[in-house]
Formats: sequence, structure tokens, C-alpha cells
Amino acid sequence: MRKSITIVGASLAGLRGAEALRRDGFDGPISLIGDEPHAPYDRPPLSKKILAGDWEADRAALTPAERFADLNLDLRLGSRATKLNVDSQTLWVDGEPEAYQGLLIATGARCRTLPGTEGMNGVHTLRTLNDCLAIRTALEAGPRRLVVVGAGFIGAEVAATAVGRGVPTTLIESLAAPLERVVGNMVGEVVAEVHRSNGVDLRCGVGVTAVHGREQIEAVELTDGTIIETDLLVVGIGVLPNTEWLEGSGLTIENGVVCDETCLAAPGVTAAGDVARWLNPRYGELMRVEHWDNAVEQGPYAARRLLVDQPANPFTPVPWFWSDQFDRKIQLAGRPSPDDEVQIVNGSIEEHRFAAFYGSHGKLRAVFGMNRPRQVMQGKNLLAQGASWQEALAVAAAWE
Ligand code: FAD
Ligand code: NAP
Repeated sequence: MRKSITIVGASLAGLRGAEALRRDGFDGPISLIGDEPHAPYDRPPLSKKILAGDWEADRAALTPAERFADLNLDLRLGSRATKLNVDSQTLWVDGEPEAYQGLLIATGARCRTLPGTEGMNGVHTLRTLNDCLAIRTALEAGPRRLVVVGAGFIGAEVAATAVGRGVPTTLIESLAAPLERVVGNMVGEVVAEVHRSNGVDLRCGVGVTAVHGREQIEAVELTDGTIIETDLLVVGIGVLPNTEWLEGSGLTIENGVVCDETCLAAPGVTAAGDVARWLNPRYGELMRVEHWDNAVEQGPYAARRLLVDQPANPFTPVPWFWSDQFDRKIQLAGRPSPDDEVQIVNGSIEEHRFAAFYGSHGKLRAVFGMNRPRQVMQGKNLLAQGASWQEALAVAAAWE
């Protein structure tokens, strides 16, 4: 039995892992090491309520201060893990070596940046609370126009929030529709319609070829030759897992920390959240999931994994996420693929309130909902049961 646990990443997965151990009665030392200055906070409000100005920053705290104190953690904020050696069970924090017994890696991910914009005023990415507050201040200053590059989750949510604040906004996406890589073209076109009807100047099928300005952003140039003048640019073009500090550690690093089906990366070392790429037996493949629910589930699983020789079950979730854009709640459970058949099973596309099934080879693969939370949760249960396409359609036929 390990007597102490070290968690790197004062993150959603890390904190939820520590909380699970305390709930289970583990009373040994737990260190929570994070390089940000803030106590663990939640990221979803950073592109929604806090960016909109509806919430103050303290509403993002993951655990109220008094409950946090009860966890009795050795919280080390502003501290960065710089190196790891799994053979000698040594972790370096801010360059200083220390021994660990059980180690949970929950270092998440960071934003990709647009080449040529480094150090330019008016150019932002959004990952941290500080990023959010900087963009919020810029929105409050009343920019001439916000340009958002990338209509993935960050881009679509930031554009929706900015338009909600009355800021003229252009959203640029190189694919044919927002979120197309995740939800496919048909549903992506509905998301596009939601944005356009709410006043977003959405440009799809174009990329950015140049960013103009010296110290301050002045304009972006698109692949179709258009030049859009702007004084505020938000770049949302995906993330990279934070694994550089693990080079040479003895762990396998390939687009994340590679783990087995029990989230074990090496003896005494697990990983969870955006940084973990584990073998999910449900799908028979290594996967890395960049969504909130996965961090919430995997953090506790991976923390508990450090205290047992062999867990009763592998970690086999059906991935799930939500996204709020304007007054639409978008949710998706499962793993759709571009070849799937897509069928609307409830509601109507025209009203922007519908549920859709994705399926292939006679199986249900995913369920999408726009303002259809009950149907998505029922669809998630069908996915967990491994429902066939016909079984799923029969269930949906009874939905009102
Ligand atoms: P993270 O939240 O990335 O935290 C990792 C922490 O580790 C960070 O504080 C990082 O600075 C720190 N760290 C990194 N390296 C080191 C090191 N070497 N030493 C010490 N500390 C280190 N998901 C949804 O499903 N729905 C949503 O609506 C949604 N909205 C989102 C909105 C925004 C703006 C963002 C950014 C994300 C959103 N997500 C959403 C995704 C979700 O928040 C992430 O999947 C989740 O935060 C991942 O948690 P994590 O614990 O893996 O790591
Ligand atoms: P994302 O969802 O991966 O989307 C990135 C988008 O940028 C994609 O549409 C991508 O298109 C495009 N892109 C990539 N490279 C580009 C380039 N060079 N130029 C222009 N466009 C480019 O990532 P994100 O929106 O940046 O979000 C960051 C992270 O936060 C993700 O982990 C995301 O899951 C998380 N997040 C989640 C939510 C949510 O679940 N509701 C909300 C906010 C953030 P291609 O597909 O063609 O590359």
C-alpha cells in the first residue's frame, strides 16, 4: 500500500482525484502541484459566464475554500514539475528532486498558437483564467471587431459570447462548417445557421494566410484574399498535451501519456484528463479525450488506481461533452465517425431543437442533441449498453 500520493496538475482531474481518495478514507499525505497561481478552477465558464461578464472569477473555483481546507492537501501553487524518472521514482519540481510513491499526472493541455502572432498586442488564446480576464477586458474596451480563428469549441463559444456582448465578430473556419470534425457536415451546418442567425459573420472554407500589424494586430488576410481589419484576435485552433517535461522519463509519450486500460503509465504512475491517452476497451483503441466529464471521471479512477494492485474494472467510459452557444445547449455522447449514417430522431433542424443518431455496421455510435438533454442522456445509456441501430431507433420512436 502506497503511503503518499503526488498529483501534478492542480487541475480538474487532479483535484477530483484527491477528493476521491479522501472520500475513500485515504489519510496519507497528498501533494497537489500546479504551475498556475490560482487554486483549482473550472474552465467551462471561461468561454461562457465569466467571459460574458455574468460571473466574477471566483465563481469558477472548483471547491469552496472551507471544503478545500478539509481535504488537507499539500497544495503547491506556482510550482512546475520539470522532470521525471520512473526508474528511480524521482520527480523534479522547479528543478529540485523529490521521491514519490504514487504519482498522478494531470497536466492537461495548452493552446496552439498562430505562427507570426507571438508577442503581438490584441492577440489571445483561451485556456486559463488569466487568458479569460485579459479577453474580457479587451471586449469591455469596445473593440472595432473581434476576429476568431477556428470554429471548434473555443472559437464557437467565444464568438457566441462576444456577439452576446454586442461586439461585431467574424469567425473563421477552414472546414465547411463549425465543429464539422466532431459532429459531421449536416449537424455542423445547423451550428453555422445558429451562429449566422445570431449575427456572427461566419466565414467557412477559408484559412488565415497572414496577420498584419507590428506591435498591435491590425488585420488578418484570408486564403480567398479578403482582408479583415481588426484590433482583437482570439485564436482557437486546438491544444497540445503538456508532456514536454516527461521527455526521457521512461514513460511512452505519443500525443499524450500512453496508459493501459487501467490508466497506468508505469508502475506507480497514472495519468488522467486531457493529457492521458489510454486504451479504452470499449473502443479497442488508445484515446485522448479533451472534455470536462472525462477529467471528472478519470481523475478519481486514476488516483484510486495508485492504491490497488489490480483494479476490479478497466476505465471504459462513453465520452460525452456539452457546449453552450447562444441559447442552444449542444451535447454529444459517443464517438461518431465521418462514414456514419446520421438520422434525425427527434425534434426539427429548422427549429434548432433536435436529436440525431450516428451509426454504422448496424450499431449506434453517437447521439447528438441541440436543446435535447434528456434524449442525449438516454442515448448515452443506449451507447453504454452497446445498442444496435435498430434497438436505438425503436427507443427513439417512443420519444415525444
Ligand atoms: P487542465 O484543466 O488543462 O489543467 C491542467 C493544469 O496543470 C493546468 O493548471 C496547467 O497549468 C497545469 N500544468 C501543466 N503542466 C504542468 C507542470 N509541468 N507542472 C505543474 N502544473 C502543470 N469541456 C466540456 O466538456 N464542456 C465545456 O463546455 C468546456 N468548456 C471549456 C471552456 C474552455 C475555455 C476550456 C479551456 C476548456 C473547456 N472544456 C469544456 C474542456 C475542459 O475544461 C477540459 O477538458 C478540462 O479542463 C481538462 O482538465 P485537466 O484536469 O485534464 O487539465
Ligand atoms: P478544437 O475543438 O480542437 O478546434 C480547433 C479548430 O481550429 C478546428 O476547427 C480546427 O480545424 C481549427 N484549426 C486547426 N488548426 C488551424 C489553423 N492553423 N488555422 C485555422 N484553423 C485551424 O480546439 P479549440 O476549439 O481550440 O478548443 C481547445 C480545447 O478546449 C479543446 O480541448 C476543446 O475540447 C476544449 N474546449 C471544449 C469545450 C466544450 O467541450 N464545450 C469548450 C471550449 C473548449 P481542423 O479540424 O481542420 O484542424
